[in-house]
Amino acid sequence: MQNLQRLLNEGQFTASYKFALLMAIADVCVERGSAADEWLEISSRELAEKFIFHYWNQAAPYGGIVLLQNNNNQAAVISTLETARRQFGTLGNLRSSSRAWRSVVSKVAGTVKEQPLWKLQRVGGEVLDFLYPHEDEGSVIRLRPGIAYCFRTFYPLIKDLVEGHWLMFVRQHRVNQQVLGRHGDLRDFLFGSNRQSLKKFQPVLLDIQESRCFYCDRRFGRVIEVDHFIPWSMYSYDLGHNFVLSCKSCNGDKSARLASAAHLRRWVDRNIDKGDAFTEKMKELDLLFDLDTTLRVAEFAYGFAESTNAQTWVARRNKLEPLKPGWRKLIEPSLSEL
Ligand SMILES: [Zn+2]
Repeated sequence: MQNLQRLLNEGQFTASYKFALLMAIADVCVERGSAADEWLEISSRELAEKFIFHYWNQAAPYGGIVLLQNNNNQAAVISTLETARRQFGTLGNLRSSSRAWRSVVSKVAGTVKEQPLWKLQRVGGEVLDFLYPHEDEGSVIRLRPGIAYCFRTFYPLIKDLVEGHWLMFVRQHRVNQQVLGRHGDLRDFLFGSNRQSLKKFQPVLLDIQESRCFYCDRRFGRVIEVDHFIPWSMYSYDLGHNFVLSCKSCNGDKSARLASAAHLRRWVDRNIDKGDAFTEKMKELDLLFDLDTTLRVAEFAYGFAESTNAQTWVARRNKLEPLKPGWRKLIEPSLSEL
């Protein structure tokens, strides 16, 4: 964490790529994990996919302009995504056109390799390569033992730290300043969940849940909210299987907490045993989903809760309980089937 703070405080930032790279590495660590004493290999293509996720919403106009993310011309990744947005509209659409998706990933991977990958750990004249060694400076990095473990464990903290610096970078740009403060919360725009895309899931889920709250089973009134089952603060991707519909009070009360093992059981059940119809519907509508990754993230999140003796959320009025042992059996059989 000390080294990370040095990178952020002393590093040079001509574009926001280094922030995106840190987030991309953290994301891969949550998704793939590895034992504490293992090296973790990550390719620039895999990082590029994460870049696309992080920058997709940011490449939309904010107050009439696309925010600058480079000190000179617009950042190449943003320009690439602006074009893709015009052509495909949503990330789900772009992903389902596999040729276009591959081409965008290649383009972004090239930028990742040329720009932040081998510059991130340069501080002043020094190479501070605590994350991954600078060997051939090719298109693959190898995270040192312990790094993936730390990135997973401190994901919310790292996310907060990196986003804070990223936000400052965007804010200090003179061109961006013209539109700031007039168009809603900038942090939410840059790093929040995409409300437009959440709306598309709502009718599909409403059908599956028969118009009842996932948590308390009461029939919905007028207000229906889309909840990230694994909280957004632990994993910031809008992947379909992670969504449930909730009434306002359950959603507000659950907040950034993990739901109890009983809720987990019903969530796994919905995604696996009764999951085919849901998956088909998401495919049809070009919504984003990745069941394998979602389950791995759930396994990590609940494993983390177990190791820290965290309380899990049961029901409204702050009803909490320690995570029940045996939760792992709910997820693991499904993971091995995939
Ligand atoms: Zn409810």
